[in-house]
Amino acid sequence: MDLVALSAFNPSPLTGAGNNTYLIPGPEPLLVDAGVGDPRHLDAVAAALDGVPLARVVVTHNHSDHASGAAAVAARWPGVTLLKMPWPARDRVAWTPLAEGDELAAGDVRLRVVWTPGHAPDHVCLFEPAGRVLFGGDLLVQNDTVVIPASHGGSLTQYLASLERVRALAPSRVLPAHGPAIDDVVALIERYVEHRRQRERQILRALASGPVTPADIVARVYVGLNPALEPFARESVLAHLVKLEEEGRAIRNEDGKWTC
Ligand SMILES: [Zn+2]
Repeated sequence: MDLVALSAFNPSPLTGAGNNTYLIPGPEPLLVDAGVGDPRHLDAVAAALDGVPLARVVVTHNHSDHASGAAAVAARWPGVTLLKMPWPARDRVAWTPLAEGDELAAGDVRLRVVWTPGHAPDHVCLFEPAGRVLFGGDLLVQNDTVVIPASHGGSLTQYLASLERVRALAPSRVLPAHGPAIDDVVALIERYVEHRRQRERQILRALASGPVTPADIVARVYVGLNPALEPFARESVLAHLVKLEEEGRAIRNEDGKWTC
């Protein structure tokens, strides 16, 4: 598979060096993630296309660092088809809905849509079976963990199931939207699962000590946390609490405190 990695030119504390987008050139060129509409990104896509019109853009999920550039891409390549999982979005562009198992032509290969909710309810990965390459979106990040925004559609239960799905595909390489390519996929997934297990044990201990809020748990479990990251830690704790609630192992009280 021919492949060109292109930065979306949106560095920030949350996106790191900026999002990775991936262009598969050739017949019916396909771009994985739309970026944010930065002209330098669009110019880089145009240079890599070498005059061939862009056929498709697949957005891995409807977070702005992946999807907000769709309008700019459609303005530059008016014939392009914009694809994502059906999910309500306030948008100026018309999306073509993706479904689990869809196959999309991309250059000389075909990509399979793998629904992997958890980080976001509409999150998909794209799998290229011949080379066993997975375009991972925000499912995995080398040397980091993934935020599960429990107040905004994130689900830890779904995320752990999505990790198992991807492990079963046995990809040789994952190309993520943030950070470097991941070659030891199973080891990273196992580290993630172990990290969540440890966190769950800590949260169960905090619950056993009496009614607590997510913020109480953050203060107890995330010792020495940078205060700027506290909201993300609270989302992560809430994601664990909701999972425990789904399993009948935690109770949410009317005052917003949790017990076991
Ligand atoms: Zn995201």
